[in-house]
Amino acid sequence: MKIFQSSLCLYCHSPIRESAGWANIFFLEEADLLCLACRSRLISIQGNTCVICCKPLQTGDKCPDCEEWLVDPMFGQALDYNVSLYTYNPFMKDVIARFKYRGDYELARIFAAELRKKAPKAHFVIPIPLSDERLNERGFNQAVAIGMMAGMVLENGLVRVHGEKQSKKSRYDRIHTEQVFRIHPKASDFQDKTILILDDIYTTGTTLRHAGALLKEAGAKRIISLTIAR
Ligand SMILES: [Zn+2]
Ligand SMILES: [Zn+2]
Repeated sequence: MKIFQSSLCLYCHSPIRESAGWANIFFLEEADLLCLACRSRLISIQGNTCVICCKPLQTGDKCPDCEEWLVDPMFGQALDYNVSLYTYNPFMKDVIARFKYRGDYELARIFAAELRKKAPKAHFVIPIPLSDERLNERGFNQAVAIGMMAGMVLENGLVRVHGEKQSKKSRYDRIHTEQVFRIHPKASDFQDKTILILDDIYTTGTTLRHAGALLKEAGAKRIISLTIAR
């Protein structure tokens, strides 16, 4: 029985006061893993957003970046749309830094409930892979951790063939000539399937589009991405 136990906030480690509602007592609601102060610093992305990348917009339905991607012959159709949970504000930046670079693996649990709620339906969930070098350095893949904590069944669909470090080529050359991934030799059949790509942050959307283009080449019909922040 956990009712009378006070748990600690996964971020600031202060005690979480359980609200005494009946829902909590009967475990109908999942207990929060963050204190109220920390929870309030996670800002959900809501309101009018770009229909492709989920960026908050004042007006219109697509952001200028996505308009530009759409006319790209190689990557224009690589990503159908992206769903991001929270704004990449300073708090989120710190949460992700602690989680990803300082190995606080446990922190991925704070996103689990929201991920399960917002994840679009798909035949396969593929986490963006790290290079072997980076995986050894960090000890875990953040996208895999996020998916596992949310209880998702993950498909080992992609292998990273190129290091994560940015090269000195121009943005256009980097995006259009560098092969970032290949299909995993033991991947499932993606023919006509909807694939959900999982990553921690949506920044430029380049990585997700590289993965999406390759998966579409392998037969996938629809590519959706899901990220914690953007
Ligand atoms: Zn806290
Ligand atoms: Zn957009």
